[in-house]
Amino acid sequence: MSKISRSDKLAILADAAKYDASCASSGSVNRNSAKSGGIGSTGGMGICHSYAPDGRCISLLKILMTNYCMFDCLYCINRSSSNVRRAAFTVQEIVDLTLDFYKRNYIEGLFLSSGIIRSPDYTMEQLVEVARRLRVVHRFGGYIHLKTIPEADPDLLKQAGQYADRLSINIELPDDESIARLAPEKDGKLIRRSMNNLGKKVREAKAERKSSRKAPLFAPGGHSTQMIIGADASDDAKILTTSNGLYGSYGLKRVYYSAFSPIPDSSSNLPAQAPPLLREHRLYQADWLLRFYGFSVDEIMQGGSAGQLDLTIDPKLAWALQNRARFPVNINLADREILLRIPGLGGKGVGKILQARRFSALRLADLERICQSVKKILPFITTADWHPGKQLDSLNLYDRLKPPPEQLSLFEA
Ligand code: SF4
Repeated sequence: MSKISRSDKLAILADAAKYDASCASSGSVNRNSAKSGGIGSTGGMGICHSYAPDGRCISLLKILMTNYCMFDCLYCINRSSSNVRRAAFTVQEIVDLTLDFYKRNYIEGLFLSSGIIRSPDYTMEQLVEVARRLRVVHRFGGYIHLKTIPEADPDLLKQAGQYADRLSINIELPDDESIARLAPEKDGKLIRRSMNNLGKKVREAKAERKSSRKAPLFAPGGHSTQMIIGADASDDAKILTTSNGLYGSYGLKRVYYSAFSPIPDSSSNLPAQAPPLLREHRLYQADWLLRFYGFSVDEIMQGGSAGQLDLTIDPKLAWALQNRARFPVNINLADREILLRIPGLGGKGVGKILQARRFSALRLADLERICQSVKKILPFITTADWHPGKQLDSLNLYDRLKPPPEQLSLFEA
């Protein structure tokens, strides 16, 4: 077999990693190696997010250790039966690459995942060793996100948490039946058990750090997961119900949604086409409503039909249009929870309204200073000098509020 250069490996293994969406880096702690004589640092807010136009995070060195894999998940380009060009980094090569890129200011950290080689334990040992050498040998203070392998020994997952800022375990698909059909070597129950263990360790470490700042860190950025959208027949209601359960049961920081990309020579069990990218976007918006705006899955799905979110308008607007009797909301009197339900009004805007109305009854001109776009919220609110009249009864309100059609690019398929 011909020897592959480091840059060829990088090209292959960075490309192979692009299918993983779970690499955002919020929630890191302050690490600063200035005093220790090591290198690197992260701010309290985590390193900056940087997203490619397709929504992928690009601020980290995001690679696979190898794209060889003994598993044969049908939706994965790196499955054992795939015909892709393979490559593998050694542990030291990844360490050198990370330090090299870091010193050149190309990256602020590492997102490392891998296909499974030899055994889940062997692969996990290699991933942990990368993180250990970076942290212990080189006193690397940058961000590290390790993808963990649920089938690996829990002790290895525990070691991973000692070095990484964030850990993740991919749930892969919204239900166990789909996992069994499309990823036959994986086990939904085992994945959730590993998630549960991680969640417990994250919580315990947090509690210990509260009583003593000297207590060891364990994945201070928490743990996350990724779900592939559109590889099976699960609808948005099913996907959001699964996410809601994962947040509630395992204390996950984030569920990332990754639209299925059709792959060469794929199984007939998979759809021939990718789902619309907008579906992924709407799921992220709905996920936000679940986590920060007090919506339940059932409420969010009131704005969709047949278990799918409306792709034309955002889920909060879709819900409001189905619940017009709850509007208009008096900006000067409503509680925070009610204000958060007004389409077009975000958490920051609500905070500013609550602050400003302590001094005087707000008028439209005040809202114009506070909100990004007052026009969007007008049908849903009253102020000291505004009432939407019969706007909410209008049959064409949906058409008036939906975003204008976009001119398609000549160069898009
Ligand atoms: S285990 Fe991971 S890398 Fe291997 S085939 Fe499955 S999804 Fe792909």
